[in-house]
Amino acid sequence: MGGIQLKRMAVLTSGGDAPGMNAAIRAVVRTGLEQGCEVFGVEHGYAGLIAGKFIELGARDVGGIIQRGGTMLGSARCPEFRTEEGRTKALRELNQKRIEGLVVIGGNGSQTGANSLAAAGFPVVGVASTIDNDLYGSEITIGVDTALNIALETIDRLKVTASSHQRAMLVEVMGRDCGYLALMAGITGGAEAVLIPEYETQPEEVVREIRRAYERGKPHAIVVVAEGARPNAQGLAQYVKEQGARLGFELRVTILGYSQRGGTPTYFDRYLASRLGAAAVEQLAAGKHGVLVGIQKSEVATTPLAEVMAGKKPLDPRMLELARVLAK
Ligand code: ADP
Repeated sequence: MGGIQLKRMAVLTSGGDAPGMNAAIRAVVRTGLEQGCEVFGVEHGYAGLIAGKFIELGARDVGGIIQRGGTMLGSARCPEFRTEEGRTKALRELNQKRIEGLVVIGGNGSQTGANSLAAAGFPVVGVASTIDNDLYGSEITIGVDTALNIALETIDRLKVTASSHQRAMLVEVMGRDCGYLALMAGITGGAEAVLIPEYETQPEEVVREIRRAYERGKPHAIVVVAEGARPNAQGLAQYVKEQGARLGFELRVTILGYSQRGGTPTYFDRYLASRLGAAAVEQLAAGKHGVLVGIQKSEVATTPLAEVMAGKKPLDPRMLELARVLAK
């Protein structure tokens, strides 16, 4: 494999938890051991890094977790790590424990943190993990597939009840700034309309779409709304309520919220996490760091963390068109 002989490395999960993080931890630990390295788990993300909460992990310690959602290491939002002082403390802990490389499993915020460690000269590799799929440098991230499957289960059920009552159903999915989950849940759940943060929509337009769906003979109307859409699900529901009976249909809102995070990781998320976790260790062992490990053109690929920070992942406009056409 070349590169350097890593003796001690660490792994942490940070920010929003995502189904598949455990599979990634397991892959990091077992690949690290294969490289002849001691591997430490850091508890509660950057908070644990600052507090020096390292636990040594052997192959058996990561047994029985591949099928579990969440993260065995715990995650956290840690405002202190955003400060120079906090990061200095973290670096001190890493040096004291003689850690030579760190794997950071997480989303945008977490990789920003990883980038600042890399900028300070510490060998760090990021693993793309967020249910929002808004991370530049990876076409798909750990947790997205499971979150989407959970959304689909609900949408499928809502369709059944919606058809019996001529009720339009609004389903709010996660996505404060990024409409990926809503758009893909809309396409694959067969929604009549999708509302995403990237485009503002007028409530009248949505009502018109719902009416048109009924006029085309549909027994139901499902609208998938991202959390950050304007209007959001509550705003739309309020509008419909104010318009009253003259609209000819009622509206019900289902907010999926945190249930989207808590699922059993799907085959795809376990596979993705296994590959990315292993690849992150291989990068460190090859002396390559300061990068995010993700998927590009369906292959494992790396992107410099600085580039990840600067980049923005746009929605594929073809998917917007597909959602519209298939809602006929
Ligand atoms: P996610 O990784 O899911 O996007 P957050 O945005 O909450 O989650 O970020 C997780 C953690 O990453 C934060 O609590 C903080 O400790 C660290 N982080 C976020 N932004 C920065 C930053 N600009 N500099 C250093 N650390 C950061």
